[in-house]
Amino acid sequence: MTTHQDLIDRDRKVTFHASTHLRDFANGDAAGRVITGGKGINIIDKDGREFIDGFAGLYCVNIGYGRTEVAEAIYQQALEMAYYHTYVGHSNEPQIALSEKILELAGPGMSKVYYGLGGSDANETQLKLVRYYNNVLGRPQKKKVISRQRGYHGSGLATGSLTGLKAFHDQFDLPMAGILHTEAPYYYHRAAEQQGMSEREFSAWCAGKLEEMILAEGPDTVAAFIGEPVLGTGGIVPPPEGYWEAIQAVLDKYDILLIADEVVCGFGRIGADFGSHKYGIKPDLITVAKGLTSAYQPLSGVIVGDRVWKVLEQGTGELGPIGHGWTYSGHALGCAAALANLAIIEREKLTQNAVDTGGYLQQRMQQAFGNHPIVGEARGVGMLAALEFSVDPESRCHFDPSLKVGPRIAAAAMEENLIARAMPQGDILGFAPPLIATRDDIDEIVARTERAVNKVTDELV
Ligand code: PLP
Repeated sequence: MTTHQDLIDRDRKVTFHASTHLRDFANGDAAGRVITGGKGINIIDKDGREFIDGFAGLYCVNIGYGRTEVAEAIYQQALEMAYYHTYVGHSNEPQIALSEKILELAGPGMSKVYYGLGGSDANETQLKLVRYYNNVLGRPQKKKVISRQRGYHGSGLATGSLTGLKAFHDQFDLPMAGILHTEAPYYYHRAAEQQGMSEREFSAWCAGKLEEMILAEGPDTVAAFIGEPVLGTGGIVPPPEGYWEAIQAVLDKYDILLIADEVVCGFGRIGADFGSHKYGIKPDLITVAKGLTSAYQPLSGVIVGDRVWKVLEQGTGELGPIGHGWTYSGHALGCAAALANLAIIEREKLTQNAVDTGGYLQQRMQQAFGNHPIVGEARGVGMLAALEFSVDPESRCHFDPSLKVGPRIAAAAMEENLIARAMPQGDILGFAPPLIATRDDIDEIVARTERAVNKVTDELV
């Protein structure tokens, strides 16, 4: 019989893993794990060990594991017609139904959906559309894109440039020219000079910094701004009060497109169909992926608003068919999976569950960690939460990075059979349970987290 160890040993020899210490993994100094199944909010490894997946994969398995209904939808579609391309006007039935559904959820002002396979390629499409748009409008110099420090938008050359995290730039010669990063709306991390500010004042300050950057670059050179409604991988940071309102006023003033990256927030995670709805964001373009299929198939989408769509049409009127396309755009299996997934979200009222049980998650995290000696902040919204660790919660001082407090607490949680994610750039533990989680599940997640945090706290004092 093939054992778990046999599989890991073979894997070490042949697989290049994402976000992994390559040498330690190849040498056997970093752990491996082979996942063989999942049910509900749990995943199971080759030894039969069961973990609560407190991060829904990579915040994507929103309907939970083992949903045979989605598998069945994919299977039926594969029997009927697994693939035909969607170039030059070709389509398939699930793609049409899915575009209708996405536009219905997105609400007024959104016009068409273009499909890809993941969040990175969708944001790559966004960047191309922004260039095309301004070229058609006769503004060839209006091309720069402003993202935010700690934003996460993918890990390709252009999308890794949009990402505002050091590990995604260093040694890759990124960010590329023409991509800039403005202040993160990270109230907890505000500098000493912003210490006395209220959330609203801090939001106004962030908007002021954005305006300063636009003026320094020249408004005629800035094409778009991209942001996640809630900063995700950069620390799970809900925006401070008034943030999006203040940012949008600046973008409107200088005729700059707004791209809402809803890869994490879209389809219910923060208790609304889109994060944009929750925060009153009026994007020109929206990026979706992850929760669109709950990861049962790879699928992403770019939702194009009326304002941009009109110009794209005008452009093809002048230039001919648009020079953009992926072989797997609008893949019938991905679209079938998405339809089955969205039907489950609707039928089981999972977006509402992200409000109710998500609210309970926030409340329980506050109760358990609001006054904990090494927790500087317990924050979140809907079914997204984070604990930020601090050597002194009062002064919000960070731990020495060499202590690796975040990764150690994530490892201690693993010993409790709980997956929570140590986020990059800081001692932050992230939670994004599947949207099917119940109050009992949340109690269990919080109880295991408390044991993990207390274990590391004891080691530190
Ligand atoms: N945008 C956001 C907000 C994300 O969180 C991610 C991935 O975590 C991406 C884009 C990139 O998506 P992918 O990893 O599917 O390319």
